[in-house]
Amino acid sequence: MSLMERGIMKGQAMLFQITLSSMLLLITMPNSGAAGKEPGGPLIFEQRCSVCNRIASRIEIQGAGGSERLKYKGIMAGNGSGDPITTARVRLIVDAFNQPYDPKKIRAAGFFDDAGYCNTCQAFYCIDHWNPSTTGGGRCPKGHVKILDPY
Ligand SMILES: [Zn+2]
Ligand SMILES: [Zn+2]
Repeated sequence: MSLMERGIMKGQAMLFQITLSSMLLLITMPNSGAAGKEPGGPLIFEQRCSVCNRIASRIEIQGAGGSERLKYKGIMAGNGSGDPITTARVRLIVDAFNQPYDPKKIRAAGFFDDAGYCNTCQAFYCIDHWNPSTTGGGRCPKGHVKILDPY
């Protein structure tokens, strides 16, 4: 092997190392989009009323990697500009608000009004179809009772 050939081989090996390290860099980059969504984009779940198809409740999760924030608009109340939440709760929410819906999972997601979900009907209803009372309670079209406004 001539000296020049060795030089070329060494160069190739270096190039290979550079390529490898930039690939590793890509792989180890933090996953900025929770649950594999677009990087940096918020996760949005909109629940629609099973009677009129209006949006009953809206969940928005911004951020990732321990700095997640939740913005929630429930049937009668929400959390305004948002609150920080844990990655563990983000997982519970993602798990709960994807079909098929499971009353136990929706309960575990920790929304005071279950995001408008009637556990008995296993359906979402909007504010009109929850027939809210002035005391913050509501009845679904089949008469099941739920607290919609705890404040
Ligand atoms: Zn409705
Ligand atoms: Zn019901």
